[in-house]
Amino acid sequence: MSEVLMDIQNLAKHFIIDTDFRGRPVTALKAVDGVSFTIDKGEAFGLVGESGCGKTTLGKVLVNLYRPTKGKIYFEGKDLTVLNEEQRRSYCKDIQMIFQDPYASLNPKMSIGDIIAEPIIINRLLPKNQVEERVIYLLNCVGLARHQRNRYPHEFSGGQRQRVGIARALAVEPKLIVCDEPVSALDVSIQAQVLNLLSNLKEEFGLTYLFIAHGLNVVKHISDRVGVMYLGKLVEIAPKRELYANPLHPYTQALLSAIPVINPEKKKERIILEGDVPSPINTPAGCRFCSRCFKEMDQCKLNEPALKEISPNHFVACHLFK
Ligand code: SF4
Repeated sequence: MSEVLMDIQNLAKHFIIDTDFRGRPVTALKAVDGVSFTIDKGEAFGLVGESGCGKTTLGKVLVNLYRPTKGKIYFEGKDLTVLNEEQRRSYCKDIQMIFQDPYASLNPKMSIGDIIAEPIIINRLLPKNQVEERVIYLLNCVGLARHQRNRYPHEFSGGQRQRVGIARALAVEPKLIVCDEPVSALDVSIQAQVLNLLSNLKEEFGLTYLFIAHGLNVVKHISDRVGVMYLGKLVEIAPKRELYANPLHPYTQALLSAIPVINPEKKKERIILEGDVPSPINTPAGCRFCSRCFKEMDQCKLNEPALKEISPNHFVACHLFK
């Protein structure tokens, strides 16, 4: 029986764009708009969706970079949304993030040794005389050599910088790591190396991942379960094998059809989505995927479908499934 590490309930993050003369919000960008799912201990949960669907904002809410507008985040049974700033900071150590851009996420004025040592020192995890040893251990864990600790970020390639970012996240011995598109800024040849490294570290350190990506091909190898997000909502969640073998939501089907297939005999017809993504400022009343859906029915424009369990552990939000 798996143990739930994080339980996210009806979480929303709205950014206020405009207010009335009393300062009350009149226009808001609904980046995340009522998302519920759980992440089990030791699991890698893949979160997939196009740019702008709210997946990075969701990740930032979970690591306390943004305050949620509403909803609950339970971590090891404790509701993080009711904690004060100081109490929340003590939990931040347990939930770390690996950022998408390995160029922007490292301080160019600090050596990589100092970058990795900084969170250890701030959180007072080790006596000062043991920090150096720990930094060298972490560098080795991510495939970098001890002599590289005195070098600066600009002296490294993109893949190496991402390894530094991973070492920095590991420095505070987190329980959950939010990996925000950690390979999308890297060359294709380097992506597999970093994915393998993350996979190995997960086993070695007993980590749990929320792995964010914009394509289903990237999360396929690393995830145990996958959630598909569209315009601030989750539209499908299923165990990896089930999702790839039996995608139910039309949007998931379209994403899967975009994965290149090497074997010409297994080639599937590509589903090209037409129409525009609605604005997250003015979301439609019914199904949010209506304007692009190739299976749209009359009721789709009127009622928003709820996320329902269609078969064991397979959830979908679509009126095609009762
Ligand atoms: Fe398409 Fe309707 Fe299902 Fe939305 S609810 S995905 S519009 S079939």
